[in-house]
Amino acid sequence: MFESLTDRLTQVFQRLRGKGLLTQADVEEGLREIREVLLSADVHHEVVRELLSRVRERAVGEKLVESLSPAQQLLAIVRQEMVRVMGGEAQKLKLAGRPAVVLLVGPAGGGKTTTAGKLGQYLRKRGRNPLLVSADPERPAAAEQLATLAQKIGIPFESADQDPLTQVPQILGKAKKTVLDVAIVDTPGTPPGAPPPSFLADLFFLVKPSDVLLVLDALVGQEAIRMGEAFLPLGLTGIVLTKLDGDARGGAALSLPSRLRLPIVFVGVGERPEDLEPFEPGRMADRILGLGDLSGLVEKLQEAGVTAKAEKILKEEEFTLEDFLAQMEAVRRAGPLEQLLSRLPGFARPKEDEVEREFKKMKAIIQSMTVEERRNPHIIGASRKRRIARGSGTTVQDVNRLLAEYEQAKKLLKGLKHGKIPGGKFPFPR
Ligand code: GDP
Ligand code: MG
Repeated sequence: MFESLTDRLTQVFQRLRGKGLLTQADVEEGLREIREVLLSADVHHEVVRELLSRVRERAVGEKLVESLSPAQQLLAIVRQEMVRVMGGEAQKLKLAGRPAVVLLVGPAGGGKTTTAGKLGQYLRKRGRNPLLVSADPERPAAAEQLATLAQKIGIPFESADQDPLTQVPQILGKAKKTVLDVAIVDTPGTPPGAPPPSFLADLFFLVKPSDVLLVLDALVGQEAIRMGEAFLPLGLTGIVLTKLDGDARGGAALSLPSRLRLPIVFVGVGERPEDLEPFEPGRMADRILGLGDLSGLVEKLQEAGVTAKAEKILKEEEFTLEDFLAQMEAVRRAGPLEQLLSRLPGFARPKEDEVEREFKKMKAIIQSMTVEERRNPHIIGASRKRRIARGSGTTVQDVNRLLAEYEQAKKLLKGLKHGKIPGGKFPFPR
């Protein structure tokens, strides 16, 4: 996600790198580039202005830390300010009351219904007993969509589509007498920018939800601000930003929290019920800045230890050479930030042009393999190795080394899966 923003910021810091001292002019140049990058990522201009003025203030005023290069220091300040703008700490749902009521609202097509299912699955994984409720009196197909989803993931479903203002309280009353402890209520969308359906205000006062989540599509960029403003009178408590798996620019994530004064609570990263993640400002900033998503990887793997389904996905056989390549690509993109990365545990980074050369070689090797070989590397015997080496313009030793490194990464992932954080080197081409 945010590919272009990442790449451009990486270039900015590459140019700043290698200077012994960060002059006022350097800071200004860096900030000018960052400004352009943020604006082109569709971040709201006021947000950009505020962010950069705080960075400037701190960068120029702050003493240089000896262990950091000036560029790293500027980067660290930009990162901190981005995290602050995105709301600082990760926010949790309140889920007060029994059943706790979570109302999902927002413009049509933002992902409310999909998110209702995802949230149900997410909460159930964490020991809750959720119920999905459809309260869309305008579109019969909406209830059907949620009912189908509920059935697929095995979560109870109730329709309140005839008359939500009477039916939702009835459903909640009934749920009170059961084990169901969270009601996730899906509501109808409106055309982008239009005010919410009038019955929603009444529903809000009637059921007193502990959480009212505004579901917005990240792909619309800062336009999401205008769409969201229309829903502010509904006592919103947070935002779910969807479709971050797509081609979304950074605009919405960076603009929404400060413009709407609401935290982003979750992000949607795909269409499947499991594609919902708690929003973490620090992680988001890292992604935008090209620091990869290592913390996310670790988290995913640790989660795999507790849930059988995720565990299946992460069974070691399923960490293919394709995954290995993608992982290296993510680490490589962080190139100019090598000093910063090397301070993370488990990292010892080689020189950048070496990394680049090695990475190209490994990519060529993997690309010379058949899909079958990439998914089942154990079938690669001597003659296949010769063919792959020929095809990629490398040697059999190179192929062997790649396979060994892949095995090492697999082992590391297995360790992580069992909750062990390895002390050794992160798998990376030497
Ligand atoms: P609603 O009108 O707000 O209820 O939106 P829906 O839940 O029906 O979603 C609209 C479309 O967006 C559907 O095709 C969903 O599959 C898709 N969608 C929702 N969330 C995500 C997401 O996080 N990533 C992707 N790629 N698609 C999503
Ligand atoms: Mg819907």
